[in-house]
Amino acid sequence: MPNKLVTENSQLRTQLKLLLEQAHRNQQIMQRYQEFDLKFIGANTFQELIDSVFDTLTEASELDVITLSLIDPDSEIRRILTDLRIDVSNYPNLLFVDQKDGIDEITHPARKPSLGPYNTMHHRRLFPDVVLKPSSVAILPLIRRNQLIGWLSLGSLDPLRFTSNMASDFLQHRASIVAICVENVINNERLQHIGLTDPLTGVNNRRYVERRLLEEAGRTRRHGYALSAMYIDLDHFKRVNDNFGHQGGDEVLCEIAARIKAELRLSDALGRFGGEEFVVLLIDASLDAAIAVAERIRASVSNQPIALTTGEKINSTVSIGVASVDATARQSEVAAIAQQLLAKADQALYQAKESGRNKVMHTN
Ligand code: GH3
Ligand code: MG
Ligand code: MG
Repeated sequence: MPNKLVTENSQLRTQLKLLLEQAHRNQQIMQRYQEFDLKFIGANTFQELIDSVFDTLTEASELDVITLSLIDPDSEIRRILTDLRIDVSNYPNLLFVDQKDGIDEITHPARKPSLGPYNTMHHRRLFPDVVLKPSSVAILPLIRRNQLIGWLSLGSLDPLRFTSNMASDFLQHRASIVAICVENVINNERLQHIGLTDPLTGVNNRRYVERRLLEEAGRTRRHGYALSAMYIDLDHFKRVNDNFGHQGGDEVLCEIAARIKAELRLSDALGRFGGEEFVVLLIDASLDAAIAVAERIRASVSNQPIALTTGEKINSTVSIGVASVDATARQSEVAAIAQQLLAKADQALYQAKESGRNKVMHTN
């Protein structure tokens, strides 16, 4: 009899040990999810949000692949991200759905979480070729104010990780947190974007360029790389308004902004500084490189007349002043570097105007 008790006791101890281990594991999992939630809720920018989905959540949930798909029919989200200098091609797991038929294909079967084996027909848009193909998936619709805004798609190489009979409350809860955070962050970025954009031309505004200039001046001072700036002013623009009306003038401004932008790199900054003046910051560009870009801009404006919606054509030109941060200026305070750079570009612009317009001039 005591022997039986000893055996039973030992079995119970083993069971208890296993249960304690399981409880400990569960505790760790919950803690990881909690850390994810906190990090996710704390994300202020799209960059932080994406990083927490793809790094923290993948780790917390011990999954093999996660994708975030956002419904973006007019490419508005993508445009904001590009303007905020977020290169979406760096995030193969961030997907945008723009076609109506694509949405219908994905939403099948419902707006409820759907768990089960990977199915090429329904899931290939959510797990495109560039990402790992999972064996089982949990597709969590992201819904805000009764509107479907996208999907969080979790994938595992383990075919039994997600099965159709599994409870999905926990996942649904996670999806609602993700939906709120995604919406919040996009709205934040949208507001930021509006505050830094010129409403007429869609390029950045003065506030953005001034802020960016201070950042870049700081970087130039610390790392010593090249930084150049251009002041661009439309020639005889008053005449355009006088001859073609304010509306015609506005159209010319928009077209010239687009032509300037077409000659720049994504990392450069273009802002409308005042009425018919633009400033460009050329990052990591020497004076010679900046002069070459300015010459291209000047030519692209003067080579082709601008067609107005009225059908009229206008020959426009711009004058451009170019300047760079030199070795001596680099030693100054950040604000002084920024201020001197713009002052020098402005002086060069003045010389371009003085010497007959439709010119690029620079100061050393
Ligand atoms: P210059 O070659 O010396 O630069 O001559 P300009 O006529 O371009 O220069 P000026 O500074 O005398 O005139 C700038 C004009 O730009 C005057 C103003 O009415 C016009 N302007 C400023 N902002 C806007 C705008 O948002 N829309 C339009 N259509 N015109 C604007
Ligand atoms: Mg002017
Ligand atoms: Mg002008």
